[in-house]
Parts: sequence; structure tokens; C-alpha cells
Amino acid sequence: MVRLEEIIEKVSGYSPGADLEVIRKAYVFSGVVHQGQTRMSGEPYLIHPLEVADILTGLKMDPQSVATGLLHDTVEDTHTTIEKIEDAFGPEVAGLVDGLTKISRITFEKKEDREAENFRKMILAMSKDIRVILIKLADRLHNMRTLGALPPERQKKIARETFDIYAPIANRLGIGWIKTELEDLSFKYLEPERHAMLAERIAREWDVKHDYIEKIKGIIEAKLKEHGVAGEVSGRPKQLYSIYKKMRDQDVEFENIYDIIAYRVIVKSVKECYEVLGIIHSTWRPVPGRFKDYIALTKGNMYQSLHTTVVGPYGVRMEVQIRTEEMHRIADYGIAAHWKYKEGGAIDSKDDKRFAWLRQLLEWHKELKDSDEFMDSLRGGLFPEEVFVFTPKGDIKEFPAGASAVDFAYSIHTDVGNRCTGAKVNGRMVPLKYKLRSGDVVEIITSQNHHPSKDWLSFVASSRAKTRIRHWIKTDERQLSITLGKELCEREFGKHGLEFGRMWKAGDIERIARDAFGLSGAESILAGIGYGKISVQQLLGKILPPEKLAPKKVSAFQKVLDKFKPLAKTDRKSPVVVKGIDDVMVKFARCCNPLPGDEIVGFITHGQGVTVHSAGCPSLMQIDKDRRIDVAWDRGKKEKTTRPARIEVVCRNEKGLLADMSNAIKAADANITDFHIKITPENKAVCNFEVEVMDAAHLKNIIKLLGKVKKVLKVQRAVRDASAGGEAEGTH
Ligand code: MN
Repeated sequence: MVRLEEIIEKVSGYSPGADLEVIRKAYVFSGVVHQGQTRMSGEPYLIHPLEVADILTGLKMDPQSVATGLLHDTVEDTHTTIEKIEDAFGPEVAGLVDGLTKISRITFEKKEDREAENFRKMILAMSKDIRVILIKLADRLHNMRTLGALPPERQKKIARETFDIYAPIANRLGIGWIKTELEDLSFKYLEPERHAMLAERIAREWDVKHDYIEKIKGIIEAKLKEHGVAGEVSGRPKQLYSIYKKMRDQDVEFENIYDIIAYRVIVKSVKECYEVLGIIHSTWRPVPGRFKDYIALTKGNMYQSLHTTVVGPYGVRMEVQIRTEEMHRIADYGIAAHWKYKEGGAIDSKDDKRFAWLRQLLEWHKELKDSDEFMDSLRGGLFPEEVFVFTPKGDIKEFPAGASAVDFAYSIHTDVGNRCTGAKVNGRMVPLKYKLRSGDVVEIITSQNHHPSKDWLSFVASSRAKTRIRHWIKTDERQLSITLGKELCEREFGKHGLEFGRMWKAGDIERIARDAFGLSGAESILAGIGYGKISVQQLLGKILPPEKLAPKKVSAFQKVLDKFKPLAKTDRKSPVVVKGIDDVMVKFARCCNPLPGDEIVGFITHGQGVTVHSAGCPSLMQIDKDRRIDVAWDRGKKEKTTRPARIEVVCRNEKGLLADMSNAIKAADANITDFHIKITPENKAVCNFEVEVMDAAHLKNIIKLLGKVKKVLKVQRAVRDASAGGEAEGTH
């Protein structure tokens, strides 16, 4: 059992002058809270944190990490809290302990590669500080070393998790010795017989060939000396698991694996590495295709070395690895080798530390990232662009950063997305726009009658959710338009004595839609009418002769009016925004005909979008309050749209007066689109103009100018179309 003083000695050895008080304090704290606890082996629990701290000194970790090694199980396994840790040790150590506690709470069940990969990423993403992962690896390494005390199923489960998750993480971080030991230990518990057989054979091989290996070493050493290169030569069996993998993958027997022993030459410089390679290749014939230059092509985990296989004495193949001392150190310590200490033992500035390992992560993710993304990762976390969350069943799902509960819902199923009303995260209710965080357990709440909102598009992050929401909105709008188009047709057809329903059933509308409009079907024509792209008159024009469609009478003033009546330009883009659901069909109530600038309210109608009333409209009293929806004039609109407005003018019935009034309207920069006149018994003219105006202020100006026309008695804004009988557009 390792003693505290040994740990302290090791840390002060590689970090002279560092303040080691934190380690002593952590030892005492851990001893107190773990008091009375034992491991499965029956030993006092404290042995485990001590061994973990000792492994961390092997990685030459800073005093805070070593102290965290002593404290790592305190929050998870004792009554102590993270607040108490923070009080006693400050935020840095508390942050590390918290990270470890979080990781210890997630368990990995699945075996699929993709799941495992996501799980690895999640562990990395959850660890804002790379030291959390290194401490976790040390923790796992000691647990694996002492796995024998656990019951067999627990052994298998932990070994599987170690093999699938932690060994690959150690590999990615370039910590070769931990990766190797974790793999071999996992293999031992997952395949006990194979492991035992192989371990025995390798030991025998080592015994039998010991003299031979020494001889080869001697030859290499002599050759180096001959060429004036100083290098350290060693020969040792390759990793047990890697030998097994080779036997399995290449389906060969142990006897046929030639390079069980790897020779290693460690020199001072890169130049010498290539010199040694030349020496080896000129001494023994290289096996074609077996030379690998990991110096020129550094591995993703920073590993550098030259590997070659040659045909040695007696025709036996042997592998030689050539590297510098620095490369050797990195092969063992990986990211931990890049730990930088200032004089006095403190870790270098935080940014430098982050940069050092993020630079390695860049290497690691080389194939995926460009330099811009790298800069982003410098600013963000470890996987700043991804979050990993769990379904209630424990499946892992991956999302882009910023993804919401709605993204999660759509990832389950389109229907779940379309019907989601809320979510539970880690058992607590959250709003739909809740931003997912790695490690969250997410459950979606749905309701049959709920539908997506255009609002959602402002906070979803996954393209899947965006596509599905847009699709729903589009389909929904089309459905609304079809319903509206049908109603409009029924009404207008009826006015001309036609039965729309019968013609629809007979396929007449279908035929006209295809032949005359070139549309895909009858529904498309209804949708077009509903959207306002096609008028019912256009459709009737294909059914009735023109004379039946013509206006019933031409008023006496029509000719004058025509001079001022422009071609009606229809801009169907709504000048009104409906909160949450823009692009919805918006209509203006005829009863009050609101204009931009007027105060307005919206009401949701059955299948006809939203009807906009002015705030003072008397008909509001009759409308169900639940249907009310917030609307506003779209001030951000670039293209000017106009709205029809009505003006009632009472004047003397005199010649020329209409032209004067028309000129006044024109002077106010407005177009007349309709006109009616009534003569009263007192010989007064009541004139109704429909004009196109920008907004309420524009209308006010027109009224002002009309008021100045001679013989005009009274001018006012009229809300109802006198000739239309005052029916409000839209049903409620
Ligand atoms: Mn532990």
C-alpha cells in the first residue's frame, strides 16, 4: 500500500517548491469521510484514493489533481457535499471533484460502436477540465487492477465499459501505458481463458528466446556504435492484447506470429532516428510494406516513431521502433506530457494549459475540423459544437450545441416533435426552448391536439427539426388555404347559379385545374384561391361565357373614375405579423377595416387563418376571447404595401364636384379603386370612395384635403362598404 509521504515525495520531485499542503489536507479529509468504509476486498477504502493519487503522480500531475485523486469518491460515496469540498479546498479542486462525480453517475450499457463513440465524447464534453479525464482514467486503472475482488458479472460489465470507453479515451489522449494496461486488464476479464493461455505462451517465448533477444540487441548496439550514434536499445514482448488482436484479425496461430518481440531504439534527435533506420535496413532486409513513418505523419494522438519490420538472423521477422527521448515520453504520457509547470510548481496560465491540450485535440480531430473550428473550440469547451443527452431508456443522442427539447422530440419521431408540449429534464419540467446540456436525461410530453409553432424555428438547432417544422407549417397553411378556397368558390359559384360541390364531385374542377391552369389537381386550385394567387373570377371565366361574368352596370361616373383607377396591384404579403405564427393567412375584418397605424387585435378563425380587427371594433364583443391572438403591424417590411380604405363624403350634388374630389385624392398620392354615389331626397350626394392608402396617417391626410374641396359638407372615414351590405369578412 502506498503511503502519503511517498506521494508527497514524488510530487515534490517533479514539481519542486509546489505547495503540497492541499494534498495533506485532502488526505485527512478523505480519511475522515471514508472512515469505516471498506472495499470489496475487505481493505480500508482509503487505499483506493491513495492508489489513484499515486497513479496521478506517475502522470506527473499538479498538486490539485493529486489532491482530487484523494477526494474523488467523497461526494459520490460519502455524506460530504461539493459545497463542503469547495469550502475546504476552493473552487478549483471542487470543480474537479464535481466533474468526477458527474461522470461516475452515468453508466454505459450498449455495445454498438456509435453509442460507445458518443459516450466517449459525452464524457469528454462533460469534463470542462481535461484533468477530470486524467483523474478518471487513474481511478479506472486502479479499479481494473483490483477487479478480481468483484463478483464475475460485475467484473465483465466493468471490463466491457473499460474496453469500450476508457481505453479508447486513454488512446486518444495519447497516454500509451494506461491504454495498454486498461486493454490488457479488460481482455483478462472478458476472455479469461484466452488471456491466460496467451500470457503463458508469451512468458515461455520470452524465456526461450531471451538469449536470442540479447544477441539481437548486441548486434544493434554494435552497429550504432560503428556509425557513431548514441542510442538505447531494448527488446521486449509486444502488448498482449495487440498480439491477440493480430491472431484474431489475421486468423493466424500464435506460432505464426513472428514479431512478438519488439525492439526499440531511443536516440537524441530526429535526424538520428532516420540514421538508425538506415543502419537497420542495411543490416537486415526490410519486409516490404511494413515501414511506417509516424514522425513525418504524426498519429492523431501525438504518437511519433519510426516502425519497420526486417528479416533478422535465421530468417526470423522482427519489428524495430525508432524514436527520440521526447517522442518516447509523449508515447507514454500523451496529453499529460504537455503539462507545463512554472517555477514554483504552479501550472502555467490557464489559457496556455487549455491551448496546449486543445492543440492536441486539433490533431486528434484533424480529419473533421478546419482552423476556424479550432479557434471556436479554443473559445468554447472540448466539444463546443455538440451535446450528448440520454433518452429515458438510456440511449444516447447527439445534437448540435444549442439544441432544445424540441430538437430532442423530433429526433425521436416526427409525430413526437409535432405534438410536443413540454419536456422533463432530469425529472424536472422545462419549457420547450430549454437548451440541452450534455448528460441530461430528457423525456418529452406530447398532446394529441398540439401543433408545431413557427416560433420553434427560432430556437431549434438540428436540421431535422427545422425541416420537419417547416414541412408541417407548409402543409398546415396549404390545408387552411384549401378550406378557404373551397368556401370562396361555393359562395361565388352560388351567386352565378352553379353548384360547386356537384362540379367538384363530377371532376369538372379537377379537369379545369389541369387543362386550363396547368396545376397538379383540383386541390391546388383551391389552395391558389385560398392564398389569393388565383381569383374565383378567373376560375369562373373558364366555366361561364364572359357576358355572364361582366359587371352588372356601369355607373355614370365610371369613365371619370377609370382615369384615376390604376391597375389593381395585389400584394398578398401581409403587412401584419402574428405573434409566433408568421406567414399565416391574415385577413382584415370588413366591419372595421383597420389600417397600418391603427391599434389592432387578431382572432383565430376556423380554418381561415387570422382576422385582424381594429381595437375599438364593436364586433369584438361577440368574439370568443380564447381565440384572441397578438398581432402587430410589420414595421420591418421593406416593400410598401397598401390597404384599401373607405371614405364617405357628403356634398352638394353639383357638376364637376366628383372631378375635384378625385383630384384631391390624387394630390394626396392615393389611388381610387372603387366608388359609389347616392343622391338623397335633399339633393345631396353621399359619395363612397375606396382608396388605397399606406396607413392611417395617409388616410387622415386624404380626408383633410377632401375637406378643403368647395361644396363638400362632411368627410369621414367609413368602415363598411355601403354597397356590400356590411358583412364582416371571415367567420368567427
Ligand atoms: Mn474511485
